[in-house]
Amino acid sequence: MHKSGFVNILGNPNVGKSTLMNSMVGEKLSITSPKVQTTRHRIMGILNGDDFQIVYSDTPGIIKPNYKLHESMMKFVTSALTDADIILYITDVEEKVNPEEEILKKIKARGIPVIIVINKVDLSSQESLNILTTTWKEWFPGSDVIPVSAKYGFNLDQLLKSILNLLPEGPPYFPKDQITDRMERFFASEIIREKIFLNYRQEIPYSVEVEIESFTDEKNLSRIRAVIHVARESQKGIIIGHQGKMLKKIGTEARKEMEDFFGRKVYLELYVKVTENWRDNPAILKRFGYK
Ligand code: GDP
Ligand code: MG
Repeated sequence: MHKSGFVNILGNPNVGKSTLMNSMVGEKLSITSPKVQTTRHRIMGILNGDDFQIVYSDTPGIIKPNYKLHESMMKFVTSALTDADIILYITDVEEKVNPEEEILKKIKARGIPVIIVINKVDLSSQESLNILTTTWKEWFPGSDVIPVSAKYGFNLDQLLKSILNLLPEGPPYFPKDQITDRMERFFASEIIREKIFLNYRQEIPYSVEVEIESFTDEKNLSRIRAVIHVARESQKGIIIGHQGKMLKKIGTEARKEMEDFFGRKVYLELYVKVTENWRDNPAILKRFGYK
């Protein structure tokens, strides 16, 4: 018997959704950072076994839209709510949860299996974890409530067991050697965006989008030209930094990670361009891969 299905990861910003998917798949497919709204797309990560295929989807955290960009991000959340075989609802030990939240009602209304994952247990005492677990069990009677640490790999085997238990019978959706639905270009742009999230403060990470202008493979080498779009003229100088130091720093960090990820040498060129208010421009958002 072979099992397969879509296991969609939902939750509020910053609870560790992307970290969890990466840990479950064993590859860093989804970028992570201490900042909210790091993830902007729906990204699939596939875990293949001899007799199962789990197709995880990482999604943006649930937010109230301020820009058209955010509306598009929330469409990814809605799609993940619609086509899931199993929903992993991620919360963490620090989040103040209200059982009346819209998303929790929507999840319940879907009537499909839900696993509640309480992440970051490394930051909690056993006592407060017990209370939290009991609370969630009351809110989702019949669902597994599983405390984990996505970052430190605690209890992930238990989570996998719970998923496999609920996974429907069926043939694989993707070839068994495939681990994601995304192309190398996407990962190149995400790796650059992650370095921006990790290196700049305030509004800068939220004002940036990365576009791969060209990606060509030569023998043992990829040549990548990427444009960093900013929303306002004043942000350009901040990205570049004094004597170009900041841009050079993120370029170096991104190149190194790409070389690890792609397993070959990378030659990376970065440009900065002002694309006024791209976050509210439907045509440009479409070009950037948002719907
Ligand atoms: P997302 O917005 O839900 O996708 O969250 P991320 O995966 O980007 O993680 C947000 C932050 O929480 C990052 O700084 C992670 O390193 C951190 N984080 C994720 N999982 C854990 C965990 O198990 N323990 C701790 N202490 N931090 C974690
Ligand atoms: Mg994320």
